[in-house]
Amino acid sequence: TIYNFGSINLDHLYQLDHFVRPGETIASSSYQCLLGGKGANQSVALAKAGADVKHVGAIHHSDQTVIDQLESFGVDTGLINRIDVPTGHAIIQLTKEAENSIILYQGANHALTEEQVDQVLSQANAGDWVLLQNETNLIEYIMRKAQENQLKVAFNPAPMDAELTKQVLAFVDLLIVNEVEAMDLIGTTDIDSTIAAFPTAYPDMAVLMTLGKAGVCYFTGKESDQENTEEMLSVKAFSVEAVDTTAAGDTFIGFCLFSLMNGEDMTQAITRACAASAICVTRLGAAVAIPTQDEVTAFLAK
Ligand code: ADP
Repeated sequence: TIYNFGSINLDHLYQLDHFVRPGETIASSSYQCLLGGKGANQSVALAKAGADVKHVGAIHHSDQTVIDQLESFGVDTGLINRIDVPTGHAIIQLTKEAENSIILYQGANHALTEEQVDQVLSQANAGDWVLLQNETNLIEYIMRKAQENQLKVAFNPAPMDAELTKQVLAFVDLLIVNEVEAMDLIGTTDIDSTIAAFPTAYPDMAVLMTLGKAGVCYFTGKESDQENTEEMLSVKAFSVEAVDTTAAGDTFIGFCLFSLMNGEDMTQAITRACAASAICVTRLGAAVAIPTQDEVTAFLAK
């Protein structure tokens, strides 16, 4: 089982000729309301990969549609609290040039309580995984309790907060970052020097770094991960025609974690996750763009 303490958002998407200017009112001819949030996307990816995923979080009690959507993808929603705080949401303006401008309201995503965390973790079994992103509250508390309960912790510090991330690394078994997050953590603006700096800066950390269409790098802490003895791996991305990279990273994380939980080695897990995210970028949208495990198997067989 994997417990994903993650954000759930409703994304309100408006397509416009240009962004709203100060004092201006624009009537939008298009509107879509979609399930979003890195947490929810990663739960959907895990579920589509085949994992037993329990999403832990909160939404406003009127937003049953969120629960229905998550369940339609196979996510266990029994640990999502329905409270009197607005569901986290994003107001997204999209222009024809595919630029976006976003207002984010964290709302119920920051309403986790220590009691809720304790109650959830008391039902987990040693060896279960806990997954976190950086869109919810109580990150350090959850990780500390997870470690006390002998659970494995995967952390995707997105959006990156370098100070918080460094503070909690001792609780993390697997860190998953993209290029921008990796550079923020090292404090450089160049990806090659970031990759070179990582193993020295974090010698005891197992780190997966996704590099967009360039693929994935993996560094393993020398002592932390005995099953994966290689100290560094590099896997190329699949060559596809990308139309929308939304949720590529979330898809990667869900499929990679599922494979690792199922006993595949790191190279196999990364390859399968790269295939899943390659399919994802050929489709529009977030949750709906994430493939199923069968689709990934078919893609790899080609
Ligand atoms: P994020 O969405 O968090 O920024 P990345 O952009 O690094 O994450 O993408 C995650 C993974 O998705 C990559 O490691 C790669 O395997 C895959 N991917 C992303 N963009 C492409 C692309 N244009 N073509 C093929 N695969 C891609």
